[in-house]
Amino acid sequence: MSAIYQPFRYPDEIKPLVLEKEDLVFSDGSTVTSEDIWEFMTVTGPKRFPFAFSTNPAFGHQLSGDVTLISSIRRAYFGMTGIDRVKNIVRKGTPLVIVQGGISNDLYLASGCIPVGPMFIRGWLMNLQEGRGYRKANFDGAALLEEARQNLSFECCNLIANIGLLKNRNLPIAAIAPCLCSRCSDMAYAVEAYKSQSGAIPAFLMDYPVNHDWGEWRTTYLAEELHLMAERLGRISGKEVTDADLMAEIKLENRARALSRECEKIWRSGEVPPTNSIDRGFHHLALMGGFDFPVANKILEETRDELKVRVREGVKGFGLADNPARLFICGSCVTPNQNFVDKKGGVLVGSDDIWSSICMDVKETGDPFKNLAMAYGSLPYERSTEERAQWTIEQVKASHADGVIFMYNWGCNYQSAVATMITDIIKNETGLPAIIIEIGELARMESLEQSQNRIESFIEMLK
Ligand code: SF4
Repeated sequence: MSAIYQPFRYPDEIKPLVLEKEDLVFSDGSTVTSEDIWEFMTVTGPKRFPFAFSTNPAFGHQLSGDVTLISSIRRAYFGMTGIDRVKNIVRKGTPLVIVQGGISNDLYLASGCIPVGPMFIRGWLMNLQEGRGYRKANFDGAALLEEARQNLSFECCNLIANIGLLKNRNLPIAAIAPCLCSRCSDMAYAVEAYKSQSGAIPAFLMDYPVNHDWGEWRTTYLAEELHLMAERLGRISGKEVTDADLMAEIKLENRARALSRECEKIWRSGEVPPTNSIDRGFHHLALMGGFDFPVANKILEETRDELKVRVREGVKGFGLADNPARLFICGSCVTPNQNFVDKKGGVLVGSDDIWSSICMDVKETGDPFKNLAMAYGSLPYERSTEERAQWTIEQVKASHADGVIFMYNWGCNYQSAVATMITDIIKNETGLPAIIIEIGELARMESLEQSQNRIESFIEMLK
């Protein structure tokens, strides 16, 4: 390993703190002990995923580095071992389907399918070879992206491009079945382009009303689309989806979303930011569930409890500057490198993308398809540009941000089209500094200087 990418190690002194936590009990009845987690995070993990444990002068740690926040260590364990759970799922014959970000997992899981985003495709191929260091992981990832682009289009964003890898790679994907929520320009294109390939797996879309008028028709239309999607997914999984199945899944995921909102509320209430920017990643857990929602919920509960203690005791997140510049991030599928932001004197205090879905609370009585349709139809991020901007302003104010960055990926036509209007409305109505940054580096780990320079300058301006 290069000298500049030294591995990060958890110090032995924290071992008792890790061991005193409860075992994790997974949906299939298997158990992981705290001893197993410690062993993985100090021995097996660094061998299997060296890039995840690497450090470098530009970013610092890949991991959070906050060694006394034990829920963060358990979340990192849960994240890194997700690939093992997926391999088990594939071995058992449960179908994996490609979905769109921003739409929750409730229907897919209730339908006996495992939803994964387009980035999973590349992640799966990368994980076939373990033991890769930081630089090698970066090179191999870039090569896969290039291959993917040649199969699909050079114009789509780096995320959607991964669908091109389905053309000539052996991947355990049973179908492409996204919801065309309004945020994304490229998913619909990618699905249609993919359909024309010979030997293609089934590809179908759940339509999403672009007319933003409220009204019963909107819910009715989305509920019909949800029923149709459940039927199609059921044909792939061999499972008939009942109302009871869907309601049970909604309750499980409502719990995750509620816990995540609780964590956010506690985090925001701190006199000082109680964690660094990486450790604010708990919302991902609540949206995707790490391939096991009951365990995700357990880790979210632990996160909430640790946050409460930190806020009460006025503990500041590891690696943060005193009085850091608080950044709110807008835009899809992108965030600045968290460690870089912290290192330059900032901290991330919120984002609109995933948060929109976390704010969704699906009604738990009555028709679950209709309830889910109502929730999807009201997602603030998917509404008209003006309405989305007004909701974002409320979130920016609640986060006590000092500044706003609207980021979008090169190739993301929808977000690039709305970026100026949303940023202008936020600027006018909050008086906060706000900038727009386009990036072309999604999933790249090196050569990020152009966007870094802009982020660093913005942080300097705020301080
Ligand atoms: S970056 Fe934009 S185009 Fe790409 S997946 Fe995200 S929303 Fe869609």
